[in-house]
Amino acid sequence: MNNTELIDIKSLNYDELCKLTEELGEKKFRAGQLYQWMHQKLVTDFDQCTNLSVSFRDKLKEKCRLTALEPIRVQESKLDGTQKFLFKLCDGNLIESVLMKYKHGNSVCISSQVGCRMGCRFCASTLDGMVRNLTASEMLDQIYRIQAISGERVRNVVVMGSGEPMDNYDNLLKFIELLNDEKGLNISARNLTVSTCGLVPKIKELADCRLQITLAISLHAPNDELRKTMMPIANKYSIEEIMAVCRYYLNQTNRRISFEYSLVKDVNDTPECASQLISLVHGMNCHINLIPVNPIKERDYEQSEKNAIHEFKGRLEKSGVNVTIRREMGRDIDGACGQLRKSYIDNN
Ligand code: SAH
Repeated sequence: MNNTELIDIKSLNYDELCKLTEELGEKKFRAGQLYQWMHQKLVTDFDQCTNLSVSFRDKLKEKCRLTALEPIRVQESKLDGTQKFLFKLCDGNLIESVLMKYKHGNSVCISSQVGCRMGCRFCASTLDGMVRNLTASEMLDQIYRIQAISGERVRNVVVMGSGEPMDNYDNLLKFIELLNDEKGLNISARNLTVSTCGLVPKIKELADCRLQITLAISLHAPNDELRKTMMPIANKYSIEEIMAVCRYYLNQTNRRISFEYSLVKDVNDTPECASQLISLVHGMNCHINLIPVNPIKERDYEQSEKNAIHEFKGRLEKSGVNVTIRREMGRDIDGACGQLRKSYIDNN
């Protein structure tokens, strides 16, 4: 049996695991023990499950694959303690994740795909296209391994690494279910943010689940014409459709929406852009996160001047818009999405 035909046991929820355990001829309570080994004690090998019989462990090894990401490189920022992890998947693909330490607790930023097919012009993750979706267990294990390696408890999770989570929707939902499970890490939906470039039908589906997740929309431009030059997805869904689905999400969940806006010099940082953005979000319960763009060498986008950034923020504030400038974390360790993976692949 090759590796991909094996059951991805860490992507099963508790009920599915109970069923499998019984199918393997074991008593149901063994599923509870196994679930705890995988999702709370964070084991990487069935042989670490010492209260399970050797014969059960052998059956598990024969039928199942236990996702355990292999850390290839860990970098720590001297500026702010941010740690960036490069992990190898069981098929040799590489992904990256980040641990950020804030006063209010630790946040982990995870990837949802190997590469990305959205093609945003400023983003390093998409330069070589998409290789494949991550499974639920591969999304989870980024958090598990970081917690195990760093010894730090993870409080918040942001799905803002490489990949477009809404392009991997079913696995994303499974991941959320497992992350929330009180028999696992028990990280609640309120402590989870999912960032999307705006796949409107999937946002609608997510809204209908009525989970208490924070939805972050990568807007980056206040009009369709400009957005199309930065993000190919803008050819498919208009800003009007995005704003409509955001209002729907707000109605369904009562959760404030976040908009991400990466500031690019002389592209989207003008006073006119600021006033268009103000009109767009007028009266909406939302928050705007300004991100000074992190330039990548493959593209000619430059970061806005400090003055322009503060002026842009000032204009929004004056109009009563909730706005913050994202603190740049880990600038000295290839902080931006996909940069560490890309530089590792290019140099090895
Ligand atoms: N695909 C999802 C999540 C991944 S990107 C999305 O589009 O939201 C996470 C955030 O970082 C997005 O807002 C993305 O547009 C932004 N981003 C990507 N590369 C960047 C860069 N070089 N500088 C600044 N922001 C960047």
